[in-house]
Amino acid sequence: MASVRLANVSKVYGAKVRAVENCSLDIADGEFVVLVGPSGCGKSTTLRMIAGLEEVSAGTIQIGDRDVTHSPPRDRDIAMVFQNYALYPHLNVRQNLSFGLERRRAYGSLVRALWDSPYRMNRRRETSDIQARVLAAAKTLGIDSMLDRPPRELSGGQRQRVAVGRALVRNPSVFLFDEPLSNLDALLRTQMRTELRILHRSLKATMVYVTHDQEEAMSLADRIVIMRDGVIQQIGTPREVYDRPANRFVAGFIGTPPMNLLDVTLTRLDGGTAHLRWQDRDLAIDGSRWRRADLERAVSSPLTLGVRPDQFRVLPAGAPSVLSGQVASVERYGSLCDIVSEVSGSRLVSRGAAALADTTSEGRTVALSVEGSEAHLFDSSGAALPRSD
Ligand code: ADP
Ligand code: MG
Repeated sequence: MASVRLANVSKVYGAKVRAVENCSLDIADGEFVVLVGPSGCGKSTTLRMIAGLEEVSAGTIQIGDRDVTHSPPRDRDIAMVFQNYALYPHLNVRQNLSFGLERRRAYGSLVRALWDSPYRMNRRRETSDIQARVLAAAKTLGIDSMLDRPPRELSGGQRQRVAVGRALVRNPSVFLFDEPLSNLDALLRTQMRTELRILHRSLKATMVYVTHDQEEAMSLADRIVIMRDGVIQQIGTPREVYDRPANRFVAGFIGTPPMNLLDVTLTRLDGGTAHLRWQDRDLAIDGSRWRRADLERAVSSPLTLGVRPDQFRVLPAGAPSVLSGQVASVERYGSLCDIVSEVSGSRLVSRGAAALADTTSEGRTVALSVEGSEAHLFDSSGAALPRSD
């Protein structure tokens, strides 16, 4: 096992595609870190630089205590799992699992044969060792009954297990995953997530995982790295990035359904109450969660108010509230429901218990209230206003 350290790593393709800019990231030994962000934000490039499949344009990469910035992939003690599985179609599962090890052994044996006459005996011992590792990996992943089948006779989920198994048998210091579950259907994807978490716990291996799916990132990661346009936006535990998004981008990217973001102006402070103007309305929220001096500085300037859907309370019409509007859509999800309301020409989403759907019909007027302590404020650059707690 090993830690991974990226220090000021950048990648420029050609003359001007700045795929990754000045990324620094410390991944602890045994940690499960997920890189997440929209398509094209530089996730795969970052992973491929860790793997040694891309040269860095600047910066250094360390695995354990070794600087591997210019080492070829085979010298980095990593194994990578790709989205498209990359299995050999003409080899069966057993051969796919052992291929990488056999190739390494062939090279090792060749070197030894030149020096070492009893190498045949070594060779027999290594063969049974490889087969034992293949069988152990296949059992761990529940594919031991299909070792003699070719990939085309396997389902997508089974193929993905073979791809993971091929990394597993190599027992690397660091596992790298590039969107390994994206080709699977939704149910299988959530099952495989759980299995990867369990696998991670039992191996205690360092894992770096790339996905564009923030829910997948939240469910898998010890720590999440959110990227945008090649730049790291925030690094934190799932809880930290959800509860304390560092900026407006992270706020809107993490969470389902997304946070409601309203362009407001802070008009005045009245004791602990902050008055925000949103379109033609005055929203009074509890301002005590933010540092007083920063709030005072923000008076009269444009801000973004962020409210998670589950932090809007839907109240009967006429109840005292900060907002009222018309219900545009009621969407049930088993025990939960989302209510989309039209308020002053904007759509606001609130999430509550399914029972709410029974009493809230489309077209009706509703009131929404928000607790100030649960809201987020971002300045005109998008950065979160510093909190007092
Ligand atoms: P992600 O994995 O987050 O979707 P990538 O790391 O694949 O993003 O790509 C980041 C940026 O670099 C994109 O703008 C992409 O078009 C560009 N890019 C990726 N690979 C190459 C390449 N080999 N040559 C030129 N540009 C590339
Ligand atoms: Mg990618």
